[in-house]
Amino acid sequence: MISIKGLDKWYNSLHVLRDINLQVDEGEVVVLIGASGSGKSTLLRCLNRLERADRGEIHILGREINQTDKDLDQLRQQVGMVFQHFHLFPHMTVIENVIEAPIHVKKMNRRAAERLATELLQKVGLADKMHSYPHSLSGGQKQRVAIARALAMQPRVMLFDEPTSALDPELVGEVLSVMKELAQDGMTMVVVTHEMGFAREVADKVVYMDEGRIIEQGTPEQIFGAPQEERTQRFVSQIY
Ligand code: ADP
Ligand code: MG
Repeated sequence: MISIKGLDKWYNSLHVLRDINLQVDEGEVVVLIGASGSGKSTLLRCLNRLERADRGEIHILGREINQTDKDLDQLRQQVGMVFQHFHLFPHMTVIENVIEAPIHVKKMNRRAAERLATELLQKVGLADKMHSYPHSLSGGQKQRVAIARALAMQPRVMLFDEPTSALDPELVGEVLSVMKELAQDGMTMVVVTHEMGFAREVADKVVYMDEGRIIEQGTPEQIFGAPQEERTQRFVSQIY
């Protein structure tokens, strides 16, 4: 589904991604972990071309996306993203938020978009909030709307950048459980998170990054139970 080869990126003189090589298979959940500033968000943003890497290749669904500026709209339809801060449209109701892109970007007819949105809002447990405005929702509810909104484009891959980091602790679980269900449904996901319980339970692969490099990748058992690299050992022991 995703194949990253020899990816390097600089912000001016700051070398933020260093020779990144990573494979994500269809239906896999890959969790990126690492200290703040290690390049996790930048890597994620390269996958839907919010950023462009200076060197290397990214193939998504067989198409090279880093070396070309063609078909970026199509790419962003295939690769959904959920951010730490939900970025909902404040002047639109929940269902209006969800149908906006399907209607205006995908040219879906309104009735079909509403049917899909209703289904997705049921899935994330917010059918009863369809006609509410974002300001009346809790952070966890807002993030579940953001997930439904991303899913409404019927993406093949979902990217999550610290989706629970802005939430009060008691609201984290409801968002993680929606993500877990999505994983069980077979969605291909790349998730940046500090929720190690989620990583352990849901990830097929855990990738540890430091200073722009992938230091180690493996199953949760390998990375949390028997890390090979000293830096991984240190990071893992700090977070438990
Ligand atoms: P993480 O998500 O792991 O915290 P980021 O990918 O956000 O790391 O950042 C990696 C490095 O790149 C950091 O040193 C950060 O300060 C820097 N950085 C991120 N975005 C920009 C930008 N738009 N311009 C310049 N430097 C940036
Ligand atoms: Mg980040």
